[in-house]
Amino acid sequence: MTDYYGILGVDRDTSFDEIKKVYRKLAREFHPDVNPDPKASDKFKEITTAYEILSDPEKRQRYDLGGDPFSQFSGGQNFGFGDIMDAFFGGGGGNRGPRARMRAGQDALIRVELDLAEACFGAERELNLETAVACEKCSGSGCAPGTKPNVCAICKGRGETQQVTRSIIGQVMTSRPCAACQGYGSVISDACNECAGDGRVRSRKSIPIKIPAGVETGNRIQMSGAGEVGPGGGPAGDIYVEIVELPHDFLVRDGNDLHISIVIPMTSAALGTKVSVETLDGSREVAIKSGFISGETIILKDLGMNKLRGHGRGNLIVHVEVTTPNKLNKEQEELLKSLAKSRGESQDDVEIHHRGGAHSSGFFGRFRDAFNR
Ligand SMILES: [Zn+2]
Ligand SMILES: [Zn+2]
Repeated sequence: MTDYYGILGVDRDTSFDEIKKVYRKLAREFHPDVNPDPKASDKFKEITTAYEILSDPEKRQRYDLGGDPFSQFSGGQNFGFGDIMDAFFGGGGGNRGPRARMRAGQDALIRVELDLAEACFGAERELNLETAVACEKCSGSGCAPGTKPNVCAICKGRGETQQVTRSIIGQVMTSRPCAACQGYGSVISDACNECAGDGRVRSRKSIPIKIPAGVETGNRIQMSGAGEVGPGGGPAGDIYVEIVELPHDFLVRDGNDLHISIVIPMTSAALGTKVSVETLDGSREVAIKSGFISGETIILKDLGMNKLRGHGRGNLIVHVEVTTPNKLNKEQEELLKSLAKSRGESQDDVEIHHRGGAHSSGFFGRFRDAFNR
């Protein structure tokens, strides 16, 4: 296996800060922009790969344990490191001096639509996108092979020009980016004909993505370094995959729980029955006990959504509504009347009972509102 510690010349117990320092020093020495030796670009890639692994606690641990540090994403060989800009600028340092040809690639946001079952159980998708990849011909330098940028004759490599103007408060010195080199301090006189000096080329990429079980609308999955390569072959941006959950025909999600509303006839509620309820796991037979009251719920444990990053599932809550028979024919009306008589329920003097407000408001009321939207 490649000795990444050896490549950077550090020990196994070297701290992250120290590794970062060493990498910066080596990157300044071997970057193709500053080192014309063709071997330098290979060396640069090598140290960058080593840095990418040893600066990432997870990858470093995997590597230390003898595993494949790139196992998580197949795109791991990309220039998926975040600190290279720091290597050249010392981290967010002002805007003095020439600007680097190498800049970070932009992040991209891609929305992926999932149906409820996919959000519950996870899904696999293939992202097909057109993006920028590093130009192989020039390794991102933008220069024709064997050449390198020339120091700008106008600004002498400073990347900016100064101008002295007289004003009422005296002499004012202003500096602005050098127009001859766009502030780079160097000029590519012999551009790579593959990428026209940009250091990257357009390419179609297909990226497989695994969406974990339990996601919901708004969740984002970050794919480090899977985005476009920056100008000058700079570090690739990230891709953020944002989940958009499509509404289900009859299941309504509330966090990890699911709700479903069913309607049964009065006779079934009175006598008790079994009904078949559709769930994300197929249909389930649910017993309705005799004397069931409209508006009551039945909880089906563990048939809700999978919990993200956790174990277990939410519940499926079945809201049961009982319908009153209408459009009675003569025979049915007589049957009901004799039922009422047998139960001593007079229609002239109805005895009422208060059941409290819990059944009309509370969660089911809100649920119904959401359902009828
Ligand atoms: Zn210049
Ligand atoms: Zn090129």
